[in-house]
Amino acid sequence: MDKFQNLIAGQWTGSDDHLININPSDTNDIIGEYAKGTAAQASDAIEAAHQAFADWRHSSIQHRSDCLDAIGNEILARKDELGRLLAREEGKTLPEGIGEATRAGQIFKFFAGEALRIAGETLQSVRPGIDVEVFRQPVGPIAIITPWNFPIAIPAWKIAPALAFGNTVVFKPAELVPGSAWALAEIISRAGLPNGVFNMIIGEGAEIGEPLLHDQRIKAVSFTGSTKTGAIVAEACSGRNARYQLEMGGKNPLIVLNDCDLDNAVNCAIQGAYFSTGQRCTASSRLIVEAKIHDEFVEKVRLGIDDLIVDHALADGTQIGPVVDHAQLEKNLRYIEIGKGEGAQLLTGGETIERSTPGFFQKPALFVATDDTMRINREEIFGPVASVIKVDDFDQAIAVANNTSFGLSAGICTNSLRSASRFKSEIEAGMVMVNAPTAGVDYHVPFGGTKGSSFGPREQGGYAKDFYTVVKTAYTNP
Ligand code: NAD
Repeated sequence: MDKFQNLIAGQWTGSDDHLININPSDTNDIIGEYAKGTAAQASDAIEAAHQAFADWRHSSIQHRSDCLDAIGNEILARKDELGRLLAREEGKTLPEGIGEATRAGQIFKFFAGEALRIAGETLQSVRPGIDVEVFRQPVGPIAIITPWNFPIAIPAWKIAPALAFGNTVVFKPAELVPGSAWALAEIISRAGLPNGVFNMIIGEGAEIGEPLLHDQRIKAVSFTGSTKTGAIVAEACSGRNARYQLEMGGKNPLIVLNDCDLDNAVNCAIQGAYFSTGQRCTASSRLIVEAKIHDEFVEKVRLGIDDLIVDHALADGTQIGPVVDHAQLEKNLRYIEIGKGEGAQLLTGGETIERSTPGFFQKPALFVATDDTMRINREEIFGPVASVIKVDDFDQAIAVANNTSFGLSAGICTNSLRSASRFKSEIEAGMVMVNAPTAGVDYHVPFGGTKGSSFGPREQGGYAKDFYTVVKTAYTNP
């Protein structure tokens, strides 16, 4: 079996303990054995990032840009192979895996440009004879903690801006998907960065998290993952005045109005709710449908679900891969029972299915006759499960959509410009979609949510610098 190590201070470093990376489409397929880092090794990685920061913060923007461009080019050149690895360890389909790898390459190339564009301001002082400059500086060593559902794109959209703006990094990927993280780290390790500028440590959240969250040498933490872990990050960082950024769960609504293009609405619902096995923070798990179109919409979604091909992520034609692991499958099945127990009607799906390989396959599920008090409409399930809530009109649709602790993404299907405009203004979400699925975003514009879904400055695009730089104001009396 292939064995993989962690990257600490430029050295590949082993460990006594290992994580076994298993293919969720075929549990007989072992991808590799990954060194399970310890808290002491995490501390070594922090020290390396701390030491390397002294010089890297003054490195030339051309050098940083060239490194990021080289990383982006290599990822793009190897997108098929990386996409295949990603699909194999996470379970998204091969086209989705290749798409994600491509996205990661594009992100590095975008931030290769951003490294050159970092700008400040010169202003006049209210005091005669004084000059005022506002400029941006790197923050310091940054901990980057990522979830399993986008194993290469999310690390890319945190690591690339961190390095672009002169920070050093300790990267802690999710335990379930160390393969893509290791491949990314290996590419970064050959891109010309000095030792210690980028470190990666695979391991258990609580063990590696302890030093990453509490060590004073870590000046900022960028976290994407569950709301529960986000709260731990927030408490640790606010307690010691470290900067932090959280991207967490969602319970994203898709509103379907009577005047929509029905086929497009059905497509948005199926794409948004079930593709990537529903394991996207931006997935549409609540379909809020106006009464007149409700029955026709529901019937078409049901037929669409029954046609979906659920199979091995690497098989030709698969549209929905497996659930990521046994624990997540159990959680999905538990929520199916919770929904039924709450009185929701399970119209189709929800059951596990057998395929030619042993994997965690589940038929996408659709609940109808639900309301917004039910747990299936209030808690993030993070699987291929969606529910329909019937509403009387636009106003009720907005009220139901906003009746949630989350606020990441939201969508509406309508042909009314007035409804679309009101929706964009009144919905409580960081990303809003009109006649498009709630999942599926660009890489050069801000990403993030409101309410319980996010905290801190936006990620991605030109807005990323708000987290990865510190603003300084200089007064000069020449
Ligand atoms: P998770 O919170 O279990 O784990 C995320 C990361 O945190 C992992 O690397 C894990 O090892 C680490 N971690 C766990 N305990 C820790 C601790 N005590 N200290 C420090 N780090 C710790 O989340 P997950 O199951 O990997 O991911 C699924 C969640 O991620 C879902 O809730 C999903 O909505 C969310 N997500 C959000 C976005 C977004 O941008 N809003 C994007 C993707 C996924």
